[in-house]
Amino acid sequence: MAYEQFPASLTASQKDVFLIDMKTEQHPYFSELMIRGINKTLRQWWSVWIICNKNSYAKGLICDSCWYIPQCKNCDITISYHKPWEGDDFGMCHICKSYYKFSTNCSQCAKGKMKTYGLGIQQIQEYILKTYKTQPLIINSASANSLPKVKRIEEKAITNKIYLSTSLATTAPFLWWESPWLTILLDADNPLILPDYQAQSNCFHLINDTIMQSPHQTILVQTKKNDHPTIRLACKGAIEEFTKSDTERKQQHHYPPFGDICVLMYKNEIEQNVFSTINKLYQELTYLKERHPNQEQETVIIYATPPLIYKAYNKYRYHIIIRGKNIREFVENAFVKLEINKRWFKIDRQAKEII
Ligand SMILES: [Zn+2]
Ligand SMILES: [Zn+2]
Repeated sequence: MAYEQFPASLTASQKDVFLIDMKTEQHPYFSELMIRGINKTLRQWWSVWIICNKNSYAKGLICDSCWYIPQCKNCDITISYHKPWEGDDFGMCHICKSYYKFSTNCSQCAKGKMKTYGLGIQQIQEYILKTYKTQPLIINSASANSLPKVKRIEEKAITNKIYLSTSLATTAPFLWWESPWLTILLDADNPLILPDYQAQSNCFHLINDTIMQSPHQTILVQTKKNDHPTIRLACKGAIEEFTKSDTERKQQHHYPPFGDICVLMYKNEIEQNVFSTINKLYQELTYLKERHPNQEQETVIIYATPPLIYKAYNKYRYHIIIRGKNIREFVENAFVKLEINKRWFKIDRQAKEII
C-alpha cells in the first residue's frame, strides 16, 4: 500500500487529500485505504460518496487464453459489459447502442473463458453489496431526473450511507441534504489516456473539481500515475500553477486560444474511398501551402490522422487537421480554391478537441 497525504494546510481547498498509488495495491480497483476509510465512516454512521466515470459493469471482456476482446460490429470500439441486477448479462456499444449477448466461453479460440477488465459503477455496486451487506444508492442524471425520483433518493438516503455517482458535478444539488464524510474518486487518471491537447486540463478539473465540490474533509484519489505533475497539482488545488504551465504549453504549440484547430472529417463505408479522398485533399492542401508561402503560413501545420474512433455506425472515418497560430486566412483561401463545401467533408473550423 502506498499513498501520499496532502494535509489541509497544503491544499487550496483546506481538505485532507490522499493520493493512492494503485500500482502498489493488491486489489486492482479497491485500495486498502479506501476499504479502511469506508469501514471507519460506516462505523460512525457517516456517509461515503464514490465517484467512477463509467456506467457499465466493466470496460469490456477479454479472453484469458487468446486475449480476444469483442468489438462492436459497426464501430471500432470494444463492447462495454453490463451486469444488471435482474435479467441476463449483456454487452452494449456506447456509440451505436447495439446490444450483444455474451457467453462465458471465447468465441474465437473455444478454450478460453471471458473475463472482465476495467471498472464500472455496476461492479462497485456488486462489491459494496458483497463486502458491506448494503446496497449503495446510485445518484446520477438518470436516477434523479424527476421530483418523485429525487424524493425516493432522499427517503433511501436516511438508511443508506454509501452513494455512487459518475461525477460530483451532476449530483451537486444533492449534497446539501447529506454531506458525505468521505469522497472517493476512482480511476482519476482516466482523462490522460486520450490523445488530446485538452487531456491534462480535463484530468486536472476532474480531480480538482471533485475536491472543491466535496463538502467534506477527506478525499481519496486513486490513480496509477501518482507522479504526473497534473495530478499532483490537482491534489494540492494549485489552480494558478497548473493554469500557468498549461497556458505556456498551449502557447508554445499554438493550441487554442493561441491558435486555431480546423478539423475536416471524411467518412465512408468503403475504407479505400476514405484513404483516397483524404490523401487527395492532403496533397492539395500541402501543395497550396508550399505554392503560396508567406510569413504566417510558416505556422500552418497540416496532417492526416485517424480519429480516436476509426469506425462508427459502419463508416470509416479519417481526419485532416490544420492547426497553427494563424491559419484562418489560409483555410478560407484554400477552401474556396478547392471548393471544399461540395466535397462531403464535415468541417469544424474552430475545433475544441482533436480526437
Ligand atoms: Zn457500435
Ligand atoms: Zn479466446
